[in-house]
Amino acid sequence: MLKLYNTLSRQNEIFVPLTDKKVKMYTCGPTVYNYIHIGNYTTYLFSDLLKRYLLHSGFRVNDVMNITDVDDKTIKGSSEAGSTLTDFTQKYEQTFYDDLKQLHILKAKKYPHATHYIKQIIKLIKQLEKNGFAYQAEDKSVYYDISEFESYGKLANLENQNLKTGAAGRTNSDEYEKDNVGDFALWKAHNQADGDIKWDSPWGPGRPGWHIECSAMIMKLLGDQIDIHIGGEDLIFPHHQNEIAQTEAITEKQFVKYWLHKAHLKVDNKKMSKSLGNFFLLKDVATENSGVMAFRFLVTTSHYRQPLNFTRESLQASAEALNKIYNFVDRLNIANGSDNQLEKIERLITENVKQFELYMNDDLNTPNAIATLFTFINEINKYLDQKQVGGKAAKMLTNHLKQLDKVWAFIFTRKKVDKNFEQRVETLIKSRNDHRKNRNFAEADKIRDELAKMNVEIKDEGEKTHWTIK
Ligand code: AMP
Ligand code: ZN
Repeated sequence: MLKLYNTLSRQNEIFVPLTDKKVKMYTCGPTVYNYIHIGNYTTYLFSDLLKRYLLHSGFRVNDVMNITDVDDKTIKGSSEAGSTLTDFTQKYEQTFYDDLKQLHILKAKKYPHATHYIKQIIKLIKQLEKNGFAYQAEDKSVYYDISEFESYGKLANLENQNLKTGAAGRTNSDEYEKDNVGDFALWKAHNQADGDIKWDSPWGPGRPGWHIECSAMIMKLLGDQIDIHIGGEDLIFPHHQNEIAQTEAITEKQFVKYWLHKAHLKVDNKKMSKSLGNFFLLKDVATENSGVMAFRFLVTTSHYRQPLNFTRESLQASAEALNKIYNFVDRLNIANGSDNQLEKIERLITENVKQFELYMNDDLNTPNAIATLFTFINEINKYLDQKQVGGKAAKMLTNHLKQLDKVWAFIFTRKKVDKNFEQRVETLIKSRNDHRKNRNFAEADKIRDELAKMNVEIKDEGEKTHWTIK
């Protein structure tokens, strides 16, 4: 039975979707005003992990991730770049999709754009106005009156801060801190800084506030109530609180059953963010010694509610740990021992699946689940050492890893070495073996050293030489 930590109740809860085995899931996607950094990707990796585990557990998942293509930041960026909003955001959006592919994040069912939902947004604001939750202020913008929403602040546990009297102020900015609590903008009246970015509305020309965009896309694409809503922990307040206030004021039903938040990726123990300038892009982690999969592995080895401090060393250590798994896969590929321990190996596999599920069901305890994988590999390596893994066992073991990798996605997703590199390695190995045949061992060893410098490890088995990347 899967248990997940719900930010709303601040407890682990048994996961039961609203309708039998179907899960409606929404993740706040990127604001495409710049390249998406690896901090953002940790949140998307988390959402991918959960989706993969739900699929593993027999659920069907209908997931949506939005693209914020209009807000304060995109407007500022496009105006500074002197380009249209669409031209400006498209380049970042395309890189985003390329990165998702590289990270082996499963495609969401839909990636809606905020700018395509303006009609729906206006409809919601009108409804909020009708229900007494929205008002137009002197500046012509439309605000949400938080004093009207009984449980405002509950998600971020702000109940004790006497919000109602504190709510005298108004904020026109999309993002603000907890102590700036106040009425927030649903519709922002057009001003000069917006240039020609505006839409007509009953309140005059303007554009939507950021928070209403998500409510509109969710309600349109997934309905009034959803099972899971995900975002980075910075979104708990105000963004997610505001999504609740907007949607529930219209539907009078509980909007989201389980709120899940990813702890931040940090650098030098500060949040990795564009505004602090301490961010890395995916291409920065895909270096010779590591790779995108090492990053996926690194993120998965830490629990999603624990902040992860990013360092080059931890990335390198992840690459090395991952290589242990790759070497194991390679050993299985060439295993030619006897199959006399099939039953024992089968039992070890069953046990390993049980442990994997036990830990993953416990609020996705990935550090422990991965630890059991390494224990399992160490155990099977002993059988391999003793030549007790034949074709049948190897096939069973590989299938087991393939099943697990439907959730992990860092094993069989390894980057294949390019053809030129492969050819060079093969040529060097051939010349080394020729030297050995001619008993020219000094030359043969020199080539082995050269291969080692290329991170290639070789192993002789009879006539054949196998190689792997270290
Ligand atoms: P943004 O593009 O800033 O709207 O952020 C997109 C998503 O990435 C949101 O869910 C954020 O909460 C999340 N996010 C931003 N910075 C980080 C970080 N350093 N670590 C984890 N998630 C982050
Ligand atoms: Zn959102």
